[in-house]
Amino acid sequence: MLVRCDDHPSTEKYKHRVDPVGYPDTAAICGRPDCTKPGRILLDEVEWKMYQNGQRVLPGPNRFTKIKAK
Ligand SMILES: [Zn+2]
Repeated sequence: MLVRCDDHPSTEKYKHRVDPVGYPDTAAICGRPDCTKPGRILLDEVEWKMYQNGQRVLPGPNRFTKIKAK
């Protein structure tokens, strides 16, 4: 999972995009350096399957936090 704003779109691996709860007034901010714009959640294929199965609280690439999707 990555969080990126619309100015910094997905890479090849993370091609599914969902919105965090509250977007665009969200605590999820684009992970690119020097960017402070509200971010959307980018999911890889495995994470996308989890989302399609109803999982809305999604783990990031480390244990810093999880993000809740709409
Ligand atoms: Zn950005």
